[in-house]
Amino acid sequence: MQPSQTIYLDHAATTPVDPRVVQAMLPYFSDVYGNPSSIHRFGRQAEQAVEDAREQVARVLGCQAKEIVFTSCGSESDNLALRGALLSSPAASRRAHLVTSPVEHSAVINTAHQLVQLAEIDLDIVPVDSWGQVNPDDIAAACQADTALISIMYANNEVGSIQPLRQIAAIARAQSVLFHTDAVQAAGQLPLNVADLGVDMLAVSAHKFYGPKGVGALYVRQGLNLVPSQSGGGQENGRRAGTHNVAFIVGLAVALQIASEEREHFNAIYQKHRDRLIEGLLARIPDARLTGHPTDRLPNNASFAFQHTDGNALLMHLDLKGIAASSGSACKVGNPEPSAVLLAMGYDLTWALGGLRLTVGRQTTDADIDYALEVIPAAVEKVRKLGAGAAA
Ligand code: PLP
Repeated sequence: MQPSQTIYLDHAATTPVDPRVVQAMLPYFSDVYGNPSSIHRFGRQAEQAVEDAREQVARVLGCQAKEIVFTSCGSESDNLALRGALLSSPAASRRAHLVTSPVEHSAVINTAHQLVQLAEIDLDIVPVDSWGQVNPDDIAAACQADTALISIMYANNEVGSIQPLRQIAAIARAQSVLFHTDAVQAAGQLPLNVADLGVDMLAVSAHKFYGPKGVGALYVRQGLNLVPSQSGGGQENGRRAGTHNVAFIVGLAVALQIASEEREHFNAIYQKHRDRLIEGLLARIPDARLTGHPTDRLPNNASFAFQHTDGNALLMHLDLKGIAASSGSACKVGNPEPSAVLLAMGYDLTWALGGLRLTVGRQTTDADIDYALEVIPAAVEKVRKLGAGAAA
C-alpha cells in the first residue's frame, strides 16, 4: 500500500541536486567535453571550467584557488588529508601520531585504524562528552612531540553537534601540529572561512549541499607537504591523479556558492522546523531524549534516542508511512550494531540501538513536520510493543 504522503527527512544522508546546479553542469557532458589535461582548445576550454570552479570554491572558503584539491567525494577528501599528511615523510623519520575523536565519520575513523595497522601510525582517540563534543583541553593533553595531525569534524553527521574548531585550531597552532576538519555535514549550513576557522585542511562533499554525488574537495593550506592518496597522472598539482570530472566539479562549485549565498535564509527556516520536531517529539514520546547539543548543533538536525526501541525497525515502519529518516550515518541502515556515536556519548545499549535522525532541507514544509509529529510517536510505540513481544 502506498503511503498517503512521502516526506524526505534525511538531508544529512544526501540532498537533491538544485536545478540551477544541473543547468550549470549540462554543457560539460556533451558540448565542452575535452580532457582538461589536453593541450588543444577542447582541453583548454574544459581546463578553464575547472579553474573557474576552483576560484569559485576558493572565494567561499576565503583561500587561494591553488589551495583547493578536487576529489571524488568527502571520503576521498578525508583519506587524502589523513594519508597525505601522515605518510608525507619516510617511515624512518616520520612524526606519526594522530589525534582524533570517537564520533568521526567512518571516512576518518576507519582510515585512522587502517593507518595504525599498515603504517604504524600512533593513534589517540580523545573522549567526547554526553553531547558528543570534544574538550579542547583533552586534545592539548593528547598532543605529544611526534603528533603530526589532529582530525576533528566540524559538525557530527548523526547528532549534529558542532565542535569547538577555533579553540582546537589554536592548540594545533601552538603545538605546531596540522589540523584537519571533516566539514562534510557543516558545508552549506556553517561558515567555511578557513582562515577564520584556523584549519590547515578542510573536506567537503557536494551531495550534502544540493550538488551532485561523487565529487568533493579538500582545502590544503599552501606549503603543506601532502603525498597523494591516489597516484598516477599529475592532475591537481600532483595531489590527486585521475582525469577531472569536469561537469561534477562545476556542479560542486555552483552548489557551494548558492549554499553560501542562501545559507542564512535557509538556516532560519531549518531551525524553525528542527525545533518543532524536537519540542513535539520530546513532548509526545516517553523515554525519548534529544541527542547532541541542545543549541550548539546543525540548524537542520533533530536527532533522538528512544529507550528500548529497535531503531532499524522504526526506520522501516516510518518508510511504510512515507517518512524517510535515518538512524545515524547513512551507511548504518540495515546494520543492527548500536550507534558508535551514541555509545561514545555515554548512552548504554538500551538507548544506543534506538537512534533516530531527522534532517530537514530546502523543500521541507510545515505540513511535513505536522505529519512527522503525528506519525513518529505512534511508530515508536508500535516498535516498542513488537520488541517487547519478541523479547517475551
Ligand atoms: N564525513 C561526514 C561527516 C559525512 O557525513 C559523510 C557522508 O555521510 C562523509 C564524510 C563521506 O562523504 P561522501 O559520501 O561524499 O564520501
